[in-house]
Amino acid sequence: MSATKIIHAIPSDPLTGAISVPVYQTSTFIQEAPGVNKGFDYARSNNPTRKVLEDVIAELEGGDAGFAFSTGLAAIDAVLKLLSAGDEIVAVDDIYGGAYRLFTHVYEKLGISVNYVDTTEVDNVAAAVNEKTKFIWIESPTNPTLKVSDIRAIAAIAAQVGAYLVVDNTFASPIGQNPISLGADIVIHSGTKYIGGHSDLVAGLVVTAAPELSEKIKFVQNASGGVLGPWDCFLTIRGIETLDIRFRKQSENALSIARFLQHHPEVDEVFYPGLDTHKNHHIAARQQNNLFGGVVSFSLKNDSTDVANAFVTHTRFFKLAESLGGVKSLLCHPAQMTHASIPRDRRLRSGIKDSLIRLSCGIEEPQDLIEDLNTAFKSVNTATQLIYA
Ligand SMILES: *Cc1c(COP(=O)(O)O)cnc(C)c1O
Repeated sequence: MSATKIIHAIPSDPLTGAISVPVYQTSTFIQEAPGVNKGFDYARSNNPTRKVLEDVIAELEGGDAGFAFSTGLAAIDAVLKLLSAGDEIVAVDDIYGGAYRLFTHVYEKLGISVNYVDTTEVDNVAAAVNEKTKFIWIESPTNPTLKVSDIRAIAAIAAQVGAYLVVDNTFASPIGQNPISLGADIVIHSGTKYIGGHSDLVAGLVVTAAPELSEKIKFVQNASGGVLGPWDCFLTIRGIETLDIRFRKQSENALSIARFLQHHPEVDEVFYPGLDTHKNHHIAARQQNNLFGGVVSFSLKNDSTDVANAFVTHTRFFKLAESLGGVKSLLCHPAQMTHASIPRDRRLRSGIKDSLIRLSCGIEEPQDLIEDLNTAFKSVNTATQLIYA
C-alpha cells in the first residue's frame, strides 16, 4: 500500500471537518430509544476513535476487519480464545517470549497443547500438523535472531489440514509484509513497536482475513474486554501516518549497520534478513517487499556476558532498553533482558549466545549510529584486556 493511500485511509472528522481524528473520551452513547443509536452504544463494544484505527489497520493489511487491544499480548490472548480444550497449535520454536509464557503457563493448563518446530524449513511444519492442529502460529522475522519462514508455503499446509495460519507480523510491520496476501488467516501486531513508533504507548492489533473469523474475534473482544482506550487509539493512528517513511528509514539504517558489523573484526555472527548471507534471504526479499526492518542482532568473537555488558553500557545514541521499532535507537542484551526467563541451554540452542546483542535502529543518521557502535567496540577491547590481564 502506498504512503499516499495510508495517509488518506485515515479519515478527517465528518462532523466538524477536524483534519485529525477526534478522541472520543466517553464510556457510553445516548440512545434515541432502546437499541436505537448512531452505531455506538457502549465503549467496550465500540468507540469511534477505535473504529478508525481498526478500519485503518484492516486496510493496511488487506483484511476483512481489524481489532484494537490494550497490548500485543492482549491481542494474542484474544486469538487464543478461539480454541477449545484438546486443540493443538504448531508454533515457531523461536516464538516471542511473552507468547511462549502465555501458551505454557495459561493455555496448556486449559488443555491446549503446543508443538514447537523450526518453521524455517517448510517440511518440519508439514510433518508436525495433524487433525487436531487448529493453528499454525509463526513470526517472520523472529526475535532476536531474525529467522524467516515461507508464509505462502506454510499457508498451503494450513489450508490442507483445515487449520488457520496466524502470523505475528510485528517485526515486518504492514509496510514490509502483508501475510493475508500470502494466504494467512489472522495477522497480529504489537502496536507498541513500529506501528506506534515513538515508544510512547502499548497496543495490540488483530486483522482477520474473512468475515467468519471477524465475527469470532469481535465476540471475544467484547466478551473479554481487553480493548485499547481512545487516547492510545489516537496516538496509534498518528503513528500510522508516518509508518511508511519511518519503516523505510529504519530498514535503510539497519542494512547499513548490518554491513558495517559484518566486516568488523570483533563481530562473530550478524543476523539480518537483508544480508545475502542470511539463510532465507531470498524468501525475505520476496515476501517482505525488500524491506527488512530496523532490528539487527550480532554476537561477539569474545563470547562473554561481561564483554556484552561493556558494549551495551558504552553507547550514546543506542539507549539500553527493551522494545523496538521506535524513532530512537535502542539496544538490549537478550540473555539478561528479553530472554532472561529462558533456560541457558534452550536459549543457546535457538542461537542466542551469551554475547548476542540486539539493536533496534531508529531514524537517526546512519553515520552517527555507526560511530556510536565504534565507540562501544573500543570499550569491548578494554574489557577484553581487563579480562585477560
Ligand atoms: C512485543 C511483542 C509482542 C507483545 O506485545 P506487547 O505490546 O508488548 O504486549 C508480541 N509479539 C512480538 C513479536 C513482539 O515483539
